Amino acid sequence: MTIRTRFAPSPTGHLHVGNIRTALHNWMFARKEGGTFLLRLDDTDAERSKEEYVEAIRADLAWLGLAADDEQRQSVRFARYEEEFGKLKAAGRAYPAYETAQELDLKRKIQLGRGKPPIYDRAALDLTDAQQADLEAQGRKPHWRFKLDHDSPITWADRIRGEQHFDPALLSDPVIRREDGSWLYMLPSAIDDVDMGITHVVRGEDHVANTAVQIQMFHALGAEPPAFAHEALLVGTEGKLSKRLGSLGVSAFREKHIEPQAIIALLARIGTSDPVEPIADVDMLVATFDFARFGRAPARFDEEELAQLNQKIVHLLDYPAVKDRLPEAMDAAAWAVIRPNLHDMGDVDQWWQVVTGPVSAPEMPPEDKAFLSDAHAELEGLEASDALWKTLTEALKEATGRKGKPLFMPLRQALTGLDHGPDMNALLPLIGKQAALARLAQAAA
Ligand code: GLU
Repeated sequence: MTIRTRFAPSPTGHLHVGNIRTALHNWMFARKEGGTFLLRLDDTDAERSKEEYVEAIRADLAWLGLAADDEQRQSVRFARYEEEFGKLKAAGRAYPAYETAQELDLKRKIQLGRGKPPIYDRAALDLTDAQQADLEAQGRKPHWRFKLDHDSPITWADRIRGEQHFDPALLSDPVIRREDGSWLYMLPSAIDDVDMGITHVVRGEDHVANTAVQIQMFHALGAEPPAFAHEALLVGTEGKLSKRLGSLGVSAFREKHIEPQAIIALLARIGTSDPVEPIADVDMLVATFDFARFGRAPARFDEEELAQLNQKIVHLLDYPAVKDRLPEAMDAAAWAVIRPNLHDMGDVDQWWQVVTGPVSAPEMPPEDKAFLSDAHAELEGLEASDALWKTLTEALKEATGRKGKPLFMPLRQALTGLDHGPDMNALLPLIGKQAALARLAQAAA
């Protein structure tokens, strides 16, 4: 069996970190199993679905490295849904109901008031043809419900949650189609999963109750249900899914110079028994992917943890991986020198500026100026080499008797304009002898 997973966002907004995590796990599982990963756009809601979101979803997935092997969209499949709906109607598994939202609400309140679960009472099934005709003559349009089979207990072995059992008699027959003919998500999704050969549905645990009714839909469609894995939801540091997390997506991450590898490394592991580690090679993460390691407790997403992980990941990125995002003249040697100083890629320009100049050193006390003059004279006589810093500081130590901070700090300040930064051994050859002479002369003046 070829594994096939799908990520099924509605293009009614941008992806947020919760959807990204679901997409990632679908992608990782497919990749680990040598299967395929489908992007299914749940765009049945013509009014709210926007092409700009479709494009943003594709672009975000591509940026994250999770591009789909295939793409389908529900909006071109209405004829298919109609066809299966017709069969379900004929088989008595889809039936019309005429209650208004207010009537249903009232029924629920009465049930709750009597201490009963608010399950739809199937009153619509008792309507005679004449009564139906009567309601329609009054201008009422039906919505449609899927008739659950109360005699078939619902069970599945969830890859994350273990054995699941639902008594269909304790569930309402789900509404599958609205009065205006539009589809609710449930039935089209099941039809698509069958038609598109989906073997594993991986999604959030907010869909567990949907799965229970969809399992009966799969059978009613004449198909075997796929396997299911429902993951615990994502929460923020305060323990719930905040509004902030709900809108935190790729554009915010990019603005903060968070690397896709950091997002992937974090989202691959939170909520699992594996530790979050700075792993930039996604194949290593894929190799450890296993539903059995997913916990039942919510996965905590911490932006601070992401920032720290991002820094560690940046320190692992090799030159070819970042080349296109570096200043034109910055080569592999310069990247190696600057990389350990970066919090994130947003710091590159600042450090490159230290190499290329101009830099502005702080005003120095007279004795340091004299020392920097000596340094200038010393450097002038030295040959440019990789050992330039070592040779220069050793000669100055000898000549001036300075050592430690009084020896190094004025030089660093004059040469970089800062009192911290990359290793001067590596930095000075990048700055170059001529530029270094000019900076020493300026700080000594
Ligand atoms: N469009 C649905 C959602 O975003 C898909 C759920 C599913 O994965 O089946 O909730």
